[in-house]
Amino acid sequence: MDRYLTAEHVALRDRVHHFGREFIAPVARELDESGVFPWQNVKRMADMGLFGVPVPRELGGMGLDYLSYILVIEELAKFDASHSITVSAHTTLGLSPILTFGSEDQKRRFVPPLASGEVLGGFGLTEPGAGSDASGTRTRAVREGNGYRLNGSKIFITNAGVGEIFVATAVTDPGRGSKGISSFIVCKPTVDVDGARAVGCGHRDDLPFTEGVRAGEKEDKMGWRASDTRELHFEDAFVPETHLLGREGEGFINFMKTLDAGRIGVAALSLGLAEGALETAVRYTAEREQFGQRVWDFQQVQFKLAEIATDIEAGRHLTYHAAWLQDQGKPYGKEAAMAKYFCSELSMRATLGAIQVMGGAGYTNEYPVERMMRDAKICEIGEGTNEIQRLVIARKLLEEVLAQSQGVHQPALEMETAGT
Ligand SMILES: Cc1cc2nc3c(=O)[nH]c(=O)nc-3n(C[C@H](O)[C@H](O)[C@H](O)COP(=O)(O)OP(=O)(O)OC[C@H]3O[C@@H](n4cnc5c(N)ncnc54)[C@H](O)[C@@H]3O)c2cc1C
Repeated sequence: MDRYLTAEHVALRDRVHHFGREFIAPVARELDESGVFPWQNVKRMADMGLFGVPVPRELGGMGLDYLSYILVIEELAKFDASHSITVSAHTTLGLSPILTFGSEDQKRRFVPPLASGEVLGGFGLTEPGAGSDASGTRTRAVREGNGYRLNGSKIFITNAGVGEIFVATAVTDPGRGSKGISSFIVCKPTVDVDGARAVGCGHRDDLPFTEGVRAGEKEDKMGWRASDTRELHFEDAFVPETHLLGREGEGFINFMKTLDAGRIGVAALSLGLAEGALETAVRYTAEREQFGQRVWDFQQVQFKLAEIATDIEAGRHLTYHAAWLQDQGKPYGKEAAMAKYFCSELSMRATLGAIQVMGGAGYTNEYPVERMMRDAKICEIGEGTNEIQRLVIARKLLEEVLAQSQGVHQPALEMETAGT
């Protein structure tokens, strides 16, 4: 991977690795069981700058490239996917739309508290009737005086309870389909203000909180159990027009661009899980003996682990390449969808394979591989299901081939497919 990684990249990755080993590994199992949000480690990650890796220094971030951020997500996931998705949803989904599409004033106001990790962010697109088909958004934003009145509900929103700054979509012009969807910056206090104060991050008194924005109960999930997933409700919530992100009608297209970048993050998270599972399986099989020899010495076991290692290497190339394209300012939508689709599926294969070679031990929570398998499953669903990724890839493929042969673009073949 030397082609992609500089000495600085490797140093950052090592720093996150040490943090994961010292502070995440000892608590990951307990957090998975309890579903408790890891505030202490969130504070530590904030102090390390991990909530603003690809954000310019003048806005409070580390000022590093996107690949650096991808390495952080991958490394955290080796130890615990809940930590990793907390940073990932905050950075690519909550913060980056403000950084990319926000006015100078919006960037100055909202990016520094997010980049420093003082407060957490999130992104509200999915609704009960709008999952893969995000153009089915029903949340309404009605113009009123110098702002908008929001009504509706989002579901499955990562960081919805613990977070304070969100970017959410709402329909401003119902007659225009996806072109009638806009996006807004919305603030609400964290659900645990006292807890946040005690730990020293997660809340700021001076944010422009909007009455009528409320998080629902925490979802009880199969995986990512320590990550905070909830509904986000808007009940006659009034936001000033200064909270409109971009222009009216640009919300849908901007969210699609946000998801392109987010998918590289899910690919990296998937890779981290696969790598964590592989390492556990190699260690275990090198120690465990059956039929008078190490389990590792059975060729069937070696072949399974060799296949997983090869998968991971291929996935890493796809993922780092997509991040590199993004850093170079080149188009990367197709590569991001490929990386997300390939790595999430390899993550399932890798975690299942790790359990298999570990036998009964792999099936118990004494080892992390069963948790990693549960954590891997959502990677095939979140930020656009893998069915949607294949649609995205196929659409881009056709566009490329037609453009090459005839210079023709065929909008009739386009489908507005999203999924967060
Ligand atoms: C833990 C978790 C965290 C999440 N975090 C966020 C978040 O922070 N913000 C946010 O906005 N959302 C979030 N989501 C929502 C997530 O992105 C959606 O669940 C996902 O996009 C799929 O939408 P859906 O659940 O409505 O499934 P559906 O769209 O109902 O899909 C059901 C099935 O139909 C298939 N399908 C749908 N359309 C097609 C098609 N055109 N062709 C082929 N197959 C199709 C799907 O692939 C899937 O298999 C999160 C979800 C979870 C579970």
